[in-house]
Amino acid sequence: MKLYELNKITEPLKKTEKMPVLFLGHGSPMNALEENEFVRGWREIGKTLPKPNAVLCVSAHWVTRGTLVTAMKKPDTIHDFGGFPRELFEVQYPAPGSPELAEETKNIITKADIRLDEKWGLDHGAWSVIKHLYPEADVPVVEMSLDYYQSPQFHYDLAKELAPLRKKGVLIIGSGNMVHNLSMVDWDKLNTSDFGYDWAIEASEKMRKFILSNDHQQMINYKSQSSAYNLAIPTPEHYLPLLYALALQEKDEKVSLFNDKAVGGSLTMTSVKIDKV
Ligand code: ZN
Repeated sequence: MKLYELNKITEPLKKTEKMPVLFLGHGSPMNALEENEFVRGWREIGKTLPKPNAVLCVSAHWVTRGTLVTAMKKPDTIHDFGGFPRELFEVQYPAPGSPELAEETKNIITKADIRLDEKWGLDHGAWSVIKHLYPEADVPVVEMSLDYYQSPQFHYDLAKELAPLRKKGVLIIGSGNMVHNLSMVDWDKLNTSDFGYDWAIEASEKMRKFILSNDHQQMINYKSQSSAYNLAIPTPEHYLPLLYALALQEKDEKVSLFNDKAVGGSLTMTSVKIDKV
């Protein structure tokens, strides 16, 4: 018996069938309020999932030294952006936390010394999408941070250790964007459906091919792909949550894409669902 298994005697996350895994391209924080095809895509995918006991979200918007998980009972809704309308700052997503899931996550991870966090909360990488999956805010949410000082391979390997949580009703969500170059966004075309620059489309097509052929090593080695990739992933934080989702794909599972479109030239909303065949 491994040490962490001792914990299972008292922990409240009951055994379930293996939960699917998601990567959600979150795009603009305004998706929290707007009604559009992407929001509808999230809502539709939400309906295909069994109701989870809890969500573990790896968000592009929580970058730290070391890996942290939120462990408070009531996480705050963090409005970690500027220049948006006041009504976006007024959105509250009062989902409870899950100190139990935080503890369990810390216990099952061996690749890193996970720290329990009481200060963060839910940033918009989490709440702007999860609110469309669970509008009643009745599913506890725990966030996991991205250690900025680690390699893509490290993130992929760390994610694999989260696998046992799937059989405890935990829906693991990576929230980011596969192609994400904020400095090149054409803000006037943010609502023009499927508008991507040539390099964004090139990188996106390659990623799509690698994902659908389960070629995860190419996804991990994104830094040695092409100049299109350099523009698509100028910084890693929006891409890495995708590696967390892919790492959890098991041999008997299929991967499907949805919301597979570009917006604003330099962002893609492409999202991934991993589930049994
Ligand atoms: Zn973002």
